[in-house]
Amino acid sequence: MHEHDVVVIGAGGAGLRAAVAADEEDADVALVSKLHPVRSHTGAAEGGINAALREGDSWEDHAYDTMKGSDYLGDAPAIETLCQQSPDEVMRLEHEGMPFSRDDDGRMSQRPFGGLSFPRTTYAGAETGHHLLHTMYQQVVKRGITVYDEWYVTDLAVTDEDDPEERRCYGCVAYDIQSGDLDGFVAHDGVILATGGPGQVYDHTTNAVANTGDGQAMAYRAGAPLEDMEFVQFHPTTLPSTGVLISEGVRGEGGILYNAEGERFMFERGYANNDGELASRDVVSRSELTEVNQGRGIEDEYVHLDMRHLGEKRITDRLENILHLARDFEGVDGLEEPMPVKPGQHYEMGGIEVDENGETCIEGLYAAGECACVSVHGSNRLGGNALPELIVFGGRAGWHAAGREMETAEIETGPGASTGGPELDTPVEPGAVAPRSESGNVAADGGHEAGSGTRADGGAQIMGASETVSRAVERERDRITEFLERDDGVKHATIRGRLQKAMTENVNVFRNEEGLKQALKDIRETREAYTDVAVFDPSRTFNTELTHAIETRNLIDLAEAITLSGLARTEFRGAHWREAHQERKDEEWIKHTMLAWNDGEPELYYKPVILEGENKTYEPKVRSY
Ligand SMILES: Cc1cc2nc3c(=O)[nH]c(=O)nc-3n(C[C@H](O)[C@H](O)[C@H](O)COP(=O)(O)OP(=O)(O)OC[C@H]3O[C@@H](n4cnc5c(N)ncnc54)[C@H](O)[C@@H]3O)c2cc1C
Repeated sequence: MHEHDVVVIGAGGAGLRAAVAADEEDADVALVSKLHPVRSHTGAAEGGINAALREGDSWEDHAYDTMKGSDYLGDAPAIETLCQQSPDEVMRLEHEGMPFSRDDDGRMSQRPFGGLSFPRTTYAGAETGHHLLHTMYQQVVKRGITVYDEWYVTDLAVTDEDDPEERRCYGCVAYDIQSGDLDGFVAHDGVILATGGPGQVYDHTTNAVANTGDGQAMAYRAGAPLEDMEFVQFHPTTLPSTGVLISEGVRGEGGILYNAEGERFMFERGYANNDGELASRDVVSRSELTEVNQGRGIEDEYVHLDMRHLGEKRITDRLENILHLARDFEGVDGLEEPMPVKPGQHYEMGGIEVDENGETCIEGLYAAGECACVSVHGSNRLGGNALPELIVFGGRAGWHAAGREMETAEIETGPGASTGGPELDTPVEPGAVAPRSESGNVAADGGHEAGSGTRADGGAQIMGASETVSRAVERERDRITEFLERDDGVKHATIRGRLQKAMTENVNVFRNEEGLKQALKDIRETREAYTDVAVFDPSRTFNTELTHAIETRNLIDLAEAITLSGLARTEFRGAHWREAHQERKDEEWIKHTMLAWNDGEPELYYKPVILEGENKTYEPKVRSY
């Protein structure tokens, strides 16, 4: 058993910042990651980090753009915190040696990005995330923070009171990928989830194979609700054959989108008469797919992104990486020909419900980065706003977990903040399929192991840290043994493929009731198939079949959460478009969708959006670009 004050799970931008922040408060910190830190997906970020750094710009303008981009579903206290603190965090990176691109006068360069009223996206070529990760990891090494890399966290160690708001997280269970050993981690002051997004729920995605939403699924099953999961961002410029991202930086520098008829359709077809290619991502993705669906796509699949007119010098100075990606993954020379692009899954706006200090409703459990929903992006994230979220809210979670006095959060968490839920007509029962224990709670692989610590008087037994963690280790050992000992069954890859197909076909940019219901049925089938999942590779070391099998369970829970939340929201807001509800319905729908696992019986409810900021209320307006 390993013991630390703060255990950070995940070593991308959010996890690294959280670990350094907790170390700044003199906590003994462990950073546990299934990948080596610099292989985390933050390294793939290309375009940049938004921060109001220059004269003529202000945090207030950044906040206004972000709230508008969110389609009035972001919470003002979180958005304002992001925009106020991002400049300091960016300057901190600069002082730590991050090689930002610079103008001739020596100032850090800033480029325009979609939905921004000022060119405030600071960048390091088209490799911003790579440099950010390396700069931050150097700080972790310099501070001597303990890193457990290639340790796969299989579950959290949480007490089992009936009411999730009374539970406490004491640590986690992790599988050492190099040795095959399973061990417990006790966290005396807090566990911070920084495990990234669930992009692998889809088959055409810009996300890495490792982005399986593990933290979201573990927190959800432990009792922390998921928020606004229906809002999935589809990026308009991904390479058709692989999903590899072509950064928004290309359009920021002046790249142009054309349809098969050679029209600059964003203007010529009236999709965004002011901002054209630099309209918000949801707008551009829908426009591209409309072009394809109406027969003006190329090979009935994609459109062209042309940057040739920018000239070789500007392209190689600012977008060199894009040339490599287009050549290596699509066989196209971006200096000589336009690049084929189409929308692909890119980012999950929803996630684990947290407040401005990263706290969930479970004591001792925090979340930050893409796995969390604070909520700064609402129904649509502006490009360049995820990286500042990592460093601002990763830092705040680290400080708070390590005991720094922070201002009381304005955002409420937990079912206590509920405004009631919908009666949802679902074609199949969602939730766990594992056999139920006598207490009615789902046992073992079915989810949070509630009920097993019940006292004779019916109340929950009070368990300490080491007992809670030890029990979680035993439960996880049994689960892994069962996978390995099953000598026939279904391969995780078969189930994962079916799940990704169902989501890509029916829970994509354009959604309708019939498709969403079909997806729920397909997801249910994958859930049932998963009860027979077997791991055929008996290796103890580097058994990726085993870790992928565990991840697949997480993907199933998250796919269902996205689909259920999407079925319930009968309006069109941000990234969520519904065929029969093509308008934003502010009277009814300015509210966050919440989903509680409820020990295996998912329950939807809503909570209010906070539009009141420090000095003003953000009045919802028509979102045009
Ligand atoms: C191609 C691409 C380009 C992007 N470009 C930009 C951009 O220019 N600007 C911008 O603002 N945003 C951008 N984004 C979004 C942004 O990069 C991500 O949202 C962000 O980097 C996520 O960071 P994170 O720290 O939350 O997670 P990640 O960087 O994904 O890190 C997750 C960490 O969790 C660990 N982990 C996960 N599960 C487990 C487990 N079970 N056990 C142990 N460890 C685990 C992983 O090992 C990893 O260390 C881009 C996204 C993509 C996909």
